[in-house]
Amino acid sequence: MEACVIHGAGDLRLERRDDPRIGDLEVKIRVRAGGICGSDLHYLAHGGIGDFIIREPLIPGHEFSGEVAEVGARVTKVKPGDRVCVHPGRSCGQCRPCREGRPNLCEAVFFMGSASKFPHMQGGFCEFVTAIESQCFKVSPTLDFTIAAFAEPLSVALHAAHRAGNLMGKNVLITGAGPIGQLVMLAARRGGAASLTLTDIMDQTLAIAKKQGADQVINVSAGSADLDAASKAIGGFDVVFEVSGVPAALNTAIDAVARGGIIVQVGSLPGGGQPINGNRIMAKELDIRGAFRFGNVFGDAVACLDRGMIDVSGLLTGVVPMAKAADAFAMARDRSQHMKVMISF
Ligand SMILES: [Zn+2]
Ligand SMILES: [Zn+2]
Repeated sequence: MEACVIHGAGDLRLERRDDPRIGDLEVKIRVRAGGICGSDLHYLAHGGIGDFIIREPLIPGHEFSGEVAEVGARVTKVKPGDRVCVHPGRSCGQCRPCREGRPNLCEAVFFMGSASKFPHMQGGFCEFVTAIESQCFKVSPTLDFTIAAFAEPLSVALHAAHRAGNLMGKNVLITGAGPIGQLVMLAARRGGAASLTLTDIMDQTLAIAKKQGADQVINVSAGSADLDAASKAIGGFDVVFEVSGVPAALNTAIDAVARGGIIVQVGSLPGGGQPINGNRIMAKELDIRGAFRFGNVFGDAVACLDRGMIDVSGLLTGVVPMAKAADAFAMARDRSQHMKVMISF
């Protein structure tokens, strides 16, 4: 089969690999659509993201859908021809976080297309992948593969919303209007948020946010004066989702959130220590919570997409065949033109 492989910073190659074989409980999936995530872009641009560094060639991709090609002898949930979204994580089910219902915090989790563990678990930007059947979530035969491939990033958004708690009637700020920021917005809207404000440094992404239903968008490229005013007008935002992963944005969040408010850190900050205005966390009695990937919401995300409860189609700005994967990565990096770019296989 053909696979996209990152060998290091700036080094993406199309290579031939052996077709994978499956065990009795495994499913072989013909990948049909794969979304390029910010983390994939980081792997290609810098050879790593945060503390996860590429140490061997890595097939990226963890947001993908496909068609079941073959099933192992003991697989009962899916059959060849079924359309599936693939949960990219395999948690152990035994460790303390797993037993407490937080499989995303599993100490032994393998996550496809991630360099968090060595050897790396290879990802989905190739023609065939294998997964255990519990990773496969069947969707309607009519659901477009590109929409189905939003299941993973939508799961991230739903999980972030869960981490914030009850959003009903809350004034919500989302810093960073990329694909995850926009999906968090859609999730928070569904969760009953009273108002949704998005910030970014690009007018183009904010324009999409407005189209997707943002109540207020603020360009913070020239400073946070407009955001400060918006925050003051409502006595501070009840909940802030920091999605940009920019250290300055976390401090902005600490300023913009209401006293006693909640900040959910969704974006990947750079590895190592960051200067944070910790005194304000104390003085405003803030709750700062991390949201890492997602826990048990993947099935909910799949259902939202399959039943049309959350419409993500406005976020898809490009679909590029695998032979032009490098172009797809370049498009995804160009935030002035693109939101979510997918590779078709
Ligand atoms: Zn992702
Ligand atoms: Zn575990």
